[in-house]
Amino acid sequence: MHYLPIFTDLNGRSVLVVGGGNIAARKIRLLNSSGANVKIVAHKLCKELQILQKKDKIKWIANDFHVSQLKKVFLVVAATNDNKLNKQVFTAATYYHKLVNVVDNPVFCSFIFPSIINRSPIIIGISSSGTAPVLSRLLREKIEALLPTNIGKIAKLAGQWRDKVKQKLKFSERRYFWERLFTGLFPSYVTMGNIRKAQEVLVHELNNHHSNKGEIILVGAGPGDSGLLTLRALQVMQLADVVLYDYLVSKEVLEMVRRDAEFICVGKRAGYHSISQEKTNDLLIKLAKQGKRVVRLKGGDPFIFGRGAEELQAAYQAGIPFQVVPGITAAIGASIYAGIPLTHRDYAQKVIFITAQGKTNKNNIDWLSLACERQTLAIYMSAMKAAEISAELIKHGRSPQTPVAVISSGTNKNQQVLIGQLKYLEKLSTNTLSPTLLVIGEVVDLHKQLTWFHNAN
Ligand code: SAH
Repeated sequence: MHYLPIFTDLNGRSVLVVGGGNIAARKIRLLNSSGANVKIVAHKLCKELQILQKKDKIKWIANDFHVSQLKKVFLVVAATNDNKLNKQVFTAATYYHKLVNVVDNPVFCSFIFPSIINRSPIIIGISSSGTAPVLSRLLREKIEALLPTNIGKIAKLAGQWRDKVKQKLKFSERRYFWERLFTGLFPSYVTMGNIRKAQEVLVHELNNHHSNKGEIILVGAGPGDSGLLTLRALQVMQLADVVLYDYLVSKEVLEMVRRDAEFICVGKRAGYHSISQEKTNDLLIKLAKQGKRVVRLKGGDPFIFGRGAEELQAAYQAGIPFQVVPGITAAIGASIYAGIPLTHRDYAQKVIFITAQGKTNKNNIDWLSLACERQTLAIYMSAMKAAEISAELIKHGRSPQTPVAVISSGTNKNQQVLIGQLKYLEKLSTNTLSPTLLVIGEVVDLHKQLTWFHNAN
């Protein structure tokens, strides 16, 4: 993050603007709306600025720019069409540790003006860090359309109660109180203009608040691309007090979790240190018993080869309430991003999700039924067993020429897809980076027509 968004209180503070044209006027309008005392250095003022000056809304210094003018100012803006002068303002202001913005010239800016959505007291600033202002403007329009119309009023009313709520509730209770209030009837009453009813709801919530009981929410984080998260997953990720995740959860997805949540990695990965399943179960229960909302993020779908069910069985035994949010499992996500439909009327009427990896080594795999024609196998956690899988399927009757795909990091930017034949499965699977999914069946050939996801690999 090259720029840190902060919101400044300019009310009553001095800002120096160098330049008196239309662009300067545009910035001054903004500065005035936040209550800043604007001083302008310019030889001439445009019409709009002349009016402002007559109304005493700005102070005009009809002179050349000089470093002495930087004294006692908080911010500096240069908006002239003289590049040399703009640079001079930037250099001088930087020397005196003043934040400075040269309009439309990101190189000479130590602060930038974001695109603004103003529903005061709710203010949203959007920036492309000086790279694509039009893109941030388009984003602004999208966000604007999403915001409830009365969001400002809702925030203002909540603000009036903030101290009272603070007196009555403990820190840990307050967030739940406000979350419940903002997701209940309170905003609808404010929107309808029924402030009395809105306050009644607030008082009722405040008087009937009982301290929060912890819970566990098991969430499927999908195979990697954060765009594949469900809306429900996104919502609960915003409510988390603590998040337990494993290595399969992509960084991209983790970045969408509530920033103030505590993050605990319980990752499982061959050759890496990881917490045992029992310890993970104990930790989930311990945190929930402390009254926390524990989000357990698991790659793909939490109930597909993910031990999610085992964790919830432990929660059940400990009497902890829980919810589950399904996710897109690797077989679905990775095969689709590789351009492979798992079923197709002409090639496969059946798809089997399977792993050759079991709790014990005594897996009674029914190779005969797996070797049947007109079906697709999506095999999890089994790249290391490619030789055995290939040999057994061929031995039990599947053609050695059956198309296979080895998909690593499916749906992620570094997705890799290797296509070949069943007899070469072992070769294809060596040196692939985990996680890897094997897809076996005639549908794999369709990737020639259906590949659509083109990444750098
Ligand atoms: N619950 C997960 C599966 C966990 S088992 C799900 O529903 O997807 C872990 C196995 O899933 C890995 O060994 C690999 O076979 C598969 N897998 C998970 N994410 C993957 C991805 N992005 N690309 C390919 N395979 C993946």
